[in-house]
Amino acid sequence: MAKLVYDFAEGNRDMKDLLGGKGANLAEMTNLGLPVPGGFTITTEACQRYLADGRHADGLAAELGEHLEALEATMGRKLGDPADPLLVSVRSGAKFSMPGMMETVLNVGLNDESVDGLSRQAGGNDRFAWDSYRRLIQMFGKTVCDVPGEEFEHALHHAKVAKGVKDDVQLDADDLRALVTAYKKVFLKHTGHDFPQEPREQLDLAIEAVFRSWNADRAILYRRQERIPADLGTAVNVVAMVFGNLGPDSGTGVAFTRDPATGERGVYGDYLQNAQGEDVVAGIRNTLALAELADLDEKSYAELLDIMTRLEGHYHDLCDIEFTIERGKLWMLQTRVGKRTAAAAFTIAAQLVDEGVIDLDEALTRVSGAQLAQLMFPRFDLAGDPAVLTRGVGASPGAAVGEVVFSAADAVAAAATGRSVILVRRETNPDDLSGMIAAQGILTSRGGKTSHAAVVARGMGKTCVCGADALEIGRDRFTVGGRTVREGDVISIDGTTGRVYPGEVPVRPSEVVQYFEGHLDPALANEPLVAAVHQLMTHADAAAALTVRTNADTGPDAARARRFGAQGIGLCRTEHMFLGDRRELVERLILAHTAAERDDALGALQPLQRADFLEIFREMNGLPVTVRLIDPPLHEFLPSLEDLAVQVAVAKARGEQADRDERMLAAVRRMHESNPMLGLRGVRLGLVIPGLFAMQVRAIAEAAVALAAEGGRPRPEIMVPLVGAVQELETVRAEAEKIIAEVVAGSDVQVLVGTMIEVPRAALTAGQIAEAAEFFSFGTNDLTQMGWGFSRDDVEGAFFWRYLELGIFGISPFESIDREGVGRLVRIAAAEGRATRPDLKLGVCGEHGGDPESVHFFHEVGLDYVSCSPFRVPVARLEAGRAAIESTGSDHR
Ligand code: PEP
Ligand code: MG
Repeated sequence: MAKLVYDFAEGNRDMKDLLGGKGANLAEMTNLGLPVPGGFTITTEACQRYLADGRHADGLAAELGEHLEALEATMGRKLGDPADPLLVSVRSGAKFSMPGMMETVLNVGLNDESVDGLSRQAGGNDRFAWDSYRRLIQMFGKTVCDVPGEEFEHALHHAKVAKGVKDDVQLDADDLRALVTAYKKVFLKHTGHDFPQEPREQLDLAIEAVFRSWNADRAILYRRQERIPADLGTAVNVVAMVFGNLGPDSGTGVAFTRDPATGERGVYGDYLQNAQGEDVVAGIRNTLALAELADLDEKSYAELLDIMTRLEGHYHDLCDIEFTIERGKLWMLQTRVGKRTAAAAFTIAAQLVDEGVIDLDEALTRVSGAQLAQLMFPRFDLAGDPAVLTRGVGASPGAAVGEVVFSAADAVAAAATGRSVILVRRETNPDDLSGMIAAQGILTSRGGKTSHAAVVARGMGKTCVCGADALEIGRDRFTVGGRTVREGDVISIDGTTGRVYPGEVPVRPSEVVQYFEGHLDPALANEPLVAAVHQLMTHADAAAALTVRTNADTGPDAARARRFGAQGIGLCRTEHMFLGDRRELVERLILAHTAAERDDALGALQPLQRADFLEIFREMNGLPVTVRLIDPPLHEFLPSLEDLAVQVAVAKARGEQADRDERMLAAVRRMHESNPMLGLRGVRLGLVIPGLFAMQVRAIAEAAVALAAEGGRPRPEIMVPLVGAVQELETVRAEAEKIIAEVVAGSDVQVLVGTMIEVPRAALTAGQIAEAAEFFSFGTNDLTQMGWGFSRDDVEGAFFWRYLELGIFGISPFESIDREGVGRLVRIAAAEGRATRPDLKLGVCGEHGGDPESVHFFHEVGLDYVSCSPFRVPVARLEAGRAAIESTGSDHR
């Protein structure tokens, strides 16, 4: 049977699946010889079995017993021994970091007797021992037995009021002893039994509670947000306690080997003297900058710096660290490759390349398209020199403007009505997660870069300012420097500088966008971030197998996409060219009684279309432009049935003439479809309305010839939408070829004719369709719609929330390609199309073309290009490069 418990000395950093991130890294540090307290890890598999069966896996109790004995032997103490107790912490630790989402119980092993033993260990420090005991009852009660946390808070508050003090630290040993009695009463009242005195029972129950916390509401929500699979389970680390709250020569802190907000080199972190682990992360008290530890404890500080250098050297990346100093002795409680902002990710990856630590391929794996997208967000324009309301720690960058709200519930309610809000809290805790997701930004009055608010906001890419100076928060207002800001007032927060402004500050584009646009403010040109983006984008382009085109149907969009690095247009939709003042021509076309009337309307549309195409071909001179023939049903260009019916009825009632409206109404009735998405659209329309596609083909070919005559190099590709059978395409193609031959005669213009693959039948008969197509472009929007039978206009708002909740899929298949289903159709069509025509050009132009995950899939399938909206082009370029590097599968470290 598989082992369920590993001593720290038995694991390593590659065992995250089994030992979780924390356990694997504790093992790694133990084996590096760093000062890690003794302990062991219960595997994620044990958790999975517990969650499946509702009880511990067979053999777990015995294995636990053996490891506990070994730990007791190493430490020379027994768990909960009244004379000289070993105490342990029981900590969650999943494969992926889920900060604060699951449970931890500290001081396990304390009871009415061992509390005296602990006091003796601490040199007769009764206060410390009773404080530790009351913390255990509180955490254990809340976590293991669901006792409402406020009940303990009330008791604590009551003890302080009774004594007439403000701070916990002003309570002495006798007060805390009395508090323990009060806590035990709270415990008994809510659970119906006494607080368990048996140390092993405490340990077993705490382990079970940590297992269960995998399925706490906030953990489920966080996993959904971060796309962490629901079935992984958490490991549990049982670690010998070390205490940072034994006096001024003790403390606890968090450190980063580089600045996780900007990527700057140096030592960053927070330190809290005479405090226990969770106090720093919770941001409950304001912390000291880590550098100040040098003055308090020079030896530990030097040792910490030395360990940080070793860890960076070992992990080849920014590490974050949790440590505790117990009476001048440094202990490492955790390390991991640290979370960082998008800007820091790019800057650090480029720095590590410059430092010779990693190569460019590896650097590309350290950044992501999602991070690049974040860097393309706008920032505040401070030209008007807006007054600053207050200043805090810039904990997660970005520019957020919104109305102030003071609770997660209000944030959720406001966001549901489309309002932008800033969630203002003293500090956040995991229960605030839904509000943090709903808000534009988060502002807290306490805590630093490592507080809960900061860590979670950075993970989400949400703007956050923490520890804002002198902010006094009330129920529905906050005051700062004599000013009052009420619920509903607008403020602007800058997560980069930490500044908070009253009112709405205008925003300006990011320097990364300026860089892509090619008009970077010279003052920013040497910014490490811009240089890093340039270096990594250049490498991504060199590495990529996929090219990136854009979906654009106007000249300005085409020009912008080209500046963003698009290698052509993968989808030029022509429908907007039938709107505006051209509607009237479309109406004439639809109402035409005779061939002559119809030709007349088409004849009027044709030069307008030619001008549209010429503008786009000019912008994309030398690059391919795929123009899709008109796709939507024609009635979409007509007035609504209801409006027209009312108009006609009113006119009749007034005895007015309404001939044209009546004819239009009849046409709209005739063309009405119950399922327009599955009706007369795409190629079907082209086959039914004579001359429509022919007009477009002629306009495309003539525009190309016109550009060639100007000395340009047009590369038009005509794309037929919604094809399901080769015969459809053959019919359109035969007519198109005749027109093209006639128009291009005498020029060297070449026009390709291809099709979209967006109907499942087309994917399944792609071998035949390739006979008549020079290229395929996968229309994955329709392919998803028809593959799943999901109406793309309805389902996302109607019931996807439930599907996501039930885990039927982790993300909407309209957002990220469904690899197994719709993706399989793409694979089949690509393979069978290429079997017929080896040089068949393959691309994708559905929304998935700009989705990072999907880009990797299209690379795997071997498409030639992806096409996406202009703003997503840089993201797709980066991901195309990353996909190519990842698929080589080499380890560059
Ligand atoms: C598609 O279906 O994926 C596509 C690109 O076409 P449209 O979104 O215009 O239907
Ligand atoms: Mg489509």
